[in-house]
Amino acid sequence: MDAAVLTTPAVLILLGPPGAGKGTQARMLEEKFDLVQLSTGDLLRAAVAAGTDAGKAAKAVMEAGDLVSDEIVIAILRDRLGEADCAKGVILDGFPRTTVQAQALDDLLTSTGQKINAAISLEVQDAEMVTRISGRYTCGGCGEGYHDSFKQPATAGTCDKCGSTDMKRRADDNAETVASRLEAYHAQTAPLIAYYDGKGALNTINAMGQIDEIAQGLNDIVTSAMA
Ligand SMILES: [Zn+2]
Repeated sequence: MDAAVLTTPAVLILLGPPGAGKGTQARMLEEKFDLVQLSTGDLLRAAVAAGTDAGKAAKAVMEAGDLVSDEIVIAILRDRLGEADCAKGVILDGFPRTTVQAQALDDLLTSTGQKINAAISLEVQDAEMVTRISGRYTCGGCGEGYHDSFKQPATAGTCDKCGSTDMKRRADDNAETVASRLEAYHAQTAPLIAYYDGKGALNTINAMGQIDEIAQGLNDIVTSAMA
């Protein structure tokens, strides 16, 4: 079915741990389906900059050093969903984070005649993810990327491209940090996954494959969810 026949904009939720390629896939969906990706940080910044009522409320809370309440985020989201560029639909990234927020989002969408078309969980195998992320390093000379397991330079420690021996690793790419990031992600996301599964809106996709394969799987899910 052509997306143009939709009477209400699609609402997709993208869930995935750091390193699962969520940003890349969200950009693909934006282009392919004319959607807009909305992250909580971007929403807040834009609302504060625009000086909307909800934006002013958020600014006051943030200036006081407090966390912006769910009510304010929902109010900002309500304003944003009404803007012209969201006419085809949105991809929510980083919101909701809790089932309380998910319920509030459902209430908002009910009031606007919308619903969650699909919650899509990018699934990773944790042990393999730790290997992938913790093995990464880059040449400090030219920025070429390398990997302990998948892409070693011809001469250990020397860049194939520029000959530099200045190899850099991100401090937070070590195995322990990556494992604990994944653990925190699962702990935070499990209730949300159960929530959307209970509503029949959950779709899972293996995020460990080739980028093209993942994109194709997402494409199928979104095509079907927007039909
Ligand atoms: Zn180099």
